[in-house]
Amino acid sequence: KKYVYLFNEGNAEMTGLLGGKGSGLAEMSNIGLNVPPGFTITTEACIDFLNSGDFPEGMWDQTLEKLHEIEKRTGKKYGGENPLLVSVRSGAPISMPGMMDTILNVGLNDSTLVSLIKATGNERFALDSYRRLIQMFGDVVFGIDKSYFEDIIRSVKVERNKKDDVDLDASDLRVIIEKFKELYIKNGKVFPLEPLDQLRISVEAVFRSWNSERAKVYRELNGIQDNLGTAVSIVSMVFGNMGNDSATGVAFTRDPNTGKKGIFAEYLTNAQGEDVVAGIRTPKEIEDLRNEIPSAYDELIRSASTLEKHYKDMQDIEFTVEKGIFYFLQTRTGKRSAKASIKIATDMAIEGLITREEALMRITPRILDTLLHPQIKRNGKEVKLGKGLAASPGAAVGMIVFTSEKAVEFAKEKKKCILVRPETTADDVRGMSVSEGFLTQKGGMTSHAAVVARAMGKPAVVGAETLNVNLKEESLTVGNITLREGDIVTVDGTSGEFYMGSVDLEVSKITEEALTLLEWADKIRKLGVRANANTPEEAIIARENGAEGIGLARTERMFLGGDRITIMRSMIMSNSLPERLKYLDLLLPMQIHDFVEFFRTMEGYPVIIRLLDPPLHEFLPNKEEIMNEMFSLKLKLTKSSDNFEIDSSIARLTDLNRIFQTIKNLEEFNPMLGFRGCRLGLIYPEIYEMQVRAIITAAKRVTEEGKTIYPEIMIPLVGVDNELRIIRERLEKVAKEVSGKEKVPYKFGTMIEIPRACLTADKIAKEADFFSFGTNDLTQMTFGYSRDDAEGKFMAAYIGEGILPYDPFTTVDEEGVGELMKMAVKKGKATKKTLEVGICGEQGGDPQTVEFCNRIGLDYVSASPLRIPIARLSAARSAI
Ligand code: PEP
Ligand code: MG
Repeated sequence: KKYVYLFNEGNAEMTGLLGGKGSGLAEMSNIGLNVPPGFTITTEACIDFLNSGDFPEGMWDQTLEKLHEIEKRTGKKYGGENPLLVSVRSGAPISMPGMMDTILNVGLNDSTLVSLIKATGNERFALDSYRRLIQMFGDVVFGIDKSYFEDIIRSVKVERNKKDDVDLDASDLRVIIEKFKELYIKNGKVFPLEPLDQLRISVEAVFRSWNSERAKVYRELNGIQDNLGTAVSIVSMVFGNMGNDSATGVAFTRDPNTGKKGIFAEYLTNAQGEDVVAGIRTPKEIEDLRNEIPSAYDELIRSASTLEKHYKDMQDIEFTVEKGIFYFLQTRTGKRSAKASIKIATDMAIEGLITREEALMRITPRILDTLLHPQIKRNGKEVKLGKGLAASPGAAVGMIVFTSEKAVEFAKEKKKCILVRPETTADDVRGMSVSEGFLTQKGGMTSHAAVVARAMGKPAVVGAETLNVNLKEESLTVGNITLREGDIVTVDGTSGEFYMGSVDLEVSKITEEALTLLEWADKIRKLGVRANANTPEEAIIARENGAEGIGLARTERMFLGGDRITIMRSMIMSNSLPERLKYLDLLLPMQIHDFVEFFRTMEGYPVIIRLLDPPLHEFLPNKEEIMNEMFSLKLKLTKSSDNFEIDSSIARLTDLNRIFQTIKNLEEFNPMLGFRGCRLGLIYPEIYEMQVRAIITAAKRVTEEGKTIYPEIMIPLVGVDNELRIIRERLEKVAKEVSGKEKVPYKFGTMIEIPRACLTADKIAKEADFFSFGTNDLTQMTFGYSRDDAEGKFMAAYIGEGILPYDPFTTVDEEGVGELMKMAVKKGKATKKTLEVGICGEQGGDPQTVEFCNRIGLDYVSASPLRIPIARLSAARSAI
């Protein structure tokens, strides 16, 4: 069996067998780049060796045979006069930078040292190479702690009054080498002088380094299989430390930070590989190389372009220049920043190196997040307080506030704040709108705080269960740290972490290239991309980010700002229909105003307005807070003798009592499965009627402005076709009445968010022009998991133990929820071919879900405003 390949016997496709490094060296030598002669021992040999403890049969003979070949090519002799030295390098099929071992200068001993001095005429260089070999060999093969070697070098420098390593002369180095050998003896080891023993032992050590503790941990963290093994490349040594016309360095074919075209290199003259990485001397830049070693500079520029044309991607190169001759030691696809990855892909498509489709496929949609939101600039000094769910990306710094009122007060004083709550409710939206970010103790990826944060484009960490928020004391506690109102925290909704104090942030803007890439995406994608926008402001951001309409406007959010919540509460607490109508009449002009803005912003595009959905208790104040206030008022009454104070306290108490009674009346054991959605619309028809009146009035108004608009009215939580039929009949009457003579065109449709609606979608489609999957509720009801609690309680454990592959509230569960969706699409379209079908659950902005929606033939996805670019890119990628 063939275990050993000369570089020119391999190629780029053989990464599995030859490792990344081996196949890269093979491919480079095939395309005519100057690679030092060498060969690679396969990963199969490694696996065999690790299993049996011995080299597989024939491997060593093949190694010696190839070594002989290298001697011929270099004109040098391993262990002889004009000695051939080699490096023994690890290289796994998947890059594991720095995790496994490499030994340089193998083949040097006391006698080849003399030959090397003779051949090169450079005693210091030869001695320095020898001490490096002994040092690396001791560390890698025998596990003698690196620091002992460093200590010896340091003590010799002190003794001989030398400052830097480069100041050490030949006689210093001889002393160091002797001391190194003594160090071996002290550790019960002997440095092997026989060159072939050195080679054999080095290969064994590199094989074994596949199973080193750090390599195992790295594989576990990065999900790399344990059974791949590492290949070993034996490369004839070339020396960057042979004088000032020699150098060693690393180069990227484009700038890995910005993506700018042009070589980005760091190198050191008169140095060997590890010096650049070790950071002992400050490396020089590419322009210096042009002056110092012009021939090497020219070669680097020329070959970089050859490499890019060949690999069609930015390359990360290791090189050595020996006496003016340029050698490649490695090439691989270069790691890069998010910003650079977009620029490089776009530029390469424009240069014609790759196609636009290839460019789109190279950009992981999620990296757009880091371009659209401020990010934490970590410096290692942050004090991390804890971690919750990364519910809405971006980072923010501000003072802690515990109530909406305080947030508003702080905002007036131009103070930045972070709203911290056990969980948020509709009551908190006002405070949320003036806060920089949110932190909650409870809740999951589709909890109120998470959904609102994404819609507002603000960072949120939710469900941080190690956190204890005490509203009464206005404090938050994590472990033994307690923070209070006004204390500064930083929340990072990208990672889910939160920190004490202020952490630096960096904001990057969406780049020119990203815009170009997204334009290409729009041309390729088949899915429409709409936005979940709940206020006119959000609609504007959505449009700017490229949304083609609104897929979900949750009207309940419009009842929260300013006076609206008060009117809404009065409406809810009304005792009679006339009283309720009075308050609905007050809400009507406000709704009209918002809808007019929506239609104007989304001129030419559809706007889906969803009628009231949440249980009414969500609009009422928190029960505990009311009780607290009632308690303190009563206390005041027992003590007060001031008549005015008594009267006003009694009046307030009466009010509070009424609110309290209403809250109690509306209380349900299971509100998310309770009196909400179309159930409300059926029992209180006047609410939906007011909303439709507002929609049609606004539509008329904007149409009269000469704008073409596409209103769509959506009913939530339908599970039975009768629900939709009755509501439709009632609302159509209102629409007709308001439209008058000029008919206002609109679509009427429903959310599909109850499993029964999927099962009976054929019937429901008779009453609907469109379906929109509400996968938040659909997931909740299909799994029977509370969308507000699951993630904080058991989801992490479920995923950790492999019970679920991923969180179904983040990515649609294809196997279950997805099957229901497929059924609903099929049944719905069987009834009505023209049925428009989309998704507006939070999963609609998730790349994997977008791909699924494309596959099952939806017409569009709808995502929160700042996730629109991700959705556009994901939609394009799924169409390729
Ligand atoms: C849903 O349930 O997926 C949905 C979009 O509606 P909401 O989140 O408002 O319940
Ligand atoms: Mg819903």
